Amino acid sequence: MKHKNLIGLNPTELEQLMVEMGESRFRADQLLDWIYKKRVSGFDDMTNISKAFRNKLKENFSIGTVSLEKLVSSQDNFTHKFLFRLTDGLCIESVFMIENKRRTVCLSSQVGCALNCDFCATGKMGFKRNLEVAEIVDQLLFISRYFDEDLTNVVIMGMGEPFLNYENVLNACDIISNDRCFAIGKRKITISTSGIIPAIKQFADEDRKYKLAISLNSADNDIRSLLMPVNNKYPVRELINAARYYFNKTRRRVTFEYVLIRGLNDRRMDAEALQKLIHDLPCKINIIPYNETDENYRQSAENAIDDFIQPFLNMNVVISVRRSRGVDINAACGQLSYGVVGKGISETVL
Ligand code: SAH
Ligand code: SF4
Repeated sequence: MKHKNLIGLNPTELEQLMVEMGESRFRADQLLDWIYKKRVSGFDDMTNISKAFRNKLKENFSIGTVSLEKLVSSQDNFTHKFLFRLTDGLCIESVFMIENKRRTVCLSSQVGCALNCDFCATGKMGFKRNLEVAEIVDQLLFISRYFDEDLTNVVIMGMGEPFLNYENVLNACDIISNDRCFAIGKRKITISTSGIIPAIKQFADEDRKYKLAISLNSADNDIRSLLMPVNNKYPVRELINAARYYFNKTRRRVTFEYVLIRGLNDRRMDAEALQKLIHDLPCKINIIPYNETDENYRQSAENAIDDFIQPFLNMNVVISVRRSRGVDINAACGQLSYGVVGKGISETVL
């Protein structure tokens, strides 16, 4: 019999399960404490639970579903890329980043991605399947256990399109933010979408409190379609209207991610088009210098990055440039596709 995974359950579901097993609701508190706060990896470590009940748990359940295939760390040791194997043999990647007091994990939401953005390494893999709730949560659990660290931030920007696995991703976020689990604040969890409009509206209607990021990458409809085929279905104008709908409904600003690619979307006219597009929408813009994963695209020159952001400095937008971390180990944005290891990297193969 396949063991049911306890970490895909939220605290209420876990309580129900305990009651169904003829146990008290309080058992759920004990389990949650051991799994998420004390971070044990097996039932045998749960010393305040009777041996008889531990055995019963062991027979029926597991805690954890991903296994570590490979860990690659950057030279400065601030970025760590985990390759995890799933129970069906497929692999996903997650990234752990250390920055001052911040401990951020970048999670995958699918194996591969169906949206085939031309500049993205994950897109080139094609789509394999959606991740289960337990598989999403377990990436985090594994990493916090591995480093014995409390995690402070989560970004769902690894492999896959989270809004094409909406229910599982949101259920996972609800577990991650739950006080009895990881207790990571909802505003410390960011979901990044390529712009799946119906899901953006649903997210706004449900008033989910997680941060929303939209990968815009160009304000020009034709260029965006070239870079991101999903734009044929959900074009720029409609996407901005969806972002406006989100703002009007929630009063929270979305972050537009904009991967800057040399000569393609980093010219003055591109900045002007972007300015025009968002001039009456309170938002944030996050500029991501392109990580070269495809020989057809090049990173913008340093002065082109500066020139690009200039026109936004006196607008009602918050603009920032994301300096990529983990480029030497292909752990930066859009470089996740398992494999390629750079030079001079400490690598742990398990
Ligand atoms: N599918 C979601 C989330 C995963 S991609 C989305 O597209 O938003 C996360 C971010 O990485 C996106 O903003 C995407 O535009 C960016 N990205 C993809 N490939 C990249 C690359 N080679 N260099 C820099 N950023 C990249
Ligand atoms: Fe998928 Fe996002 Fe990569 Fe596009 S950028 S292929 S949506 S993971």
